[in-house]
Amino acid sequence: MSDDLKPCPFCGGNDIGSTATNKHSLAYVCTSCEARGPYAEGSGLERRHWIDAAEKWNTRAQDEAAMRAGYEMAAKEAREIGVHLRRFDLVLNDMKEGK
Ligand SMILES: [Zn+2]
Repeated sequence: MSDDLKPCPFCGGNDIGSTATNKHSLAYVCTSCEARGPYAEGSGLERRHWIDAAEKWNTRAQDEAAMRAGYEMAAKEAREIGVHLRRFDLVLNDMKEGK
């Protein structure tokens, strides 16, 4: 198989196996969490089938990593907004209580 597979985008695992649905499609699978990459067409008998499946796995891994980075940034911003809102709330309460 390929040595050029990116780690699993879900669990970070590096142990990537493979699966075939039938004689016409195959995909790489994370052996730790069983996340499956997109299916590529082919029986797996030809090297290009595996190269295609590897490209699909790697593209997905890249997309998932980018998406996760976006979510993490949004979550960080949401936490920061939360901190500001709590401070604002405290100031408002002080004003209501005439402090
Ligand atoms: Zn995994």
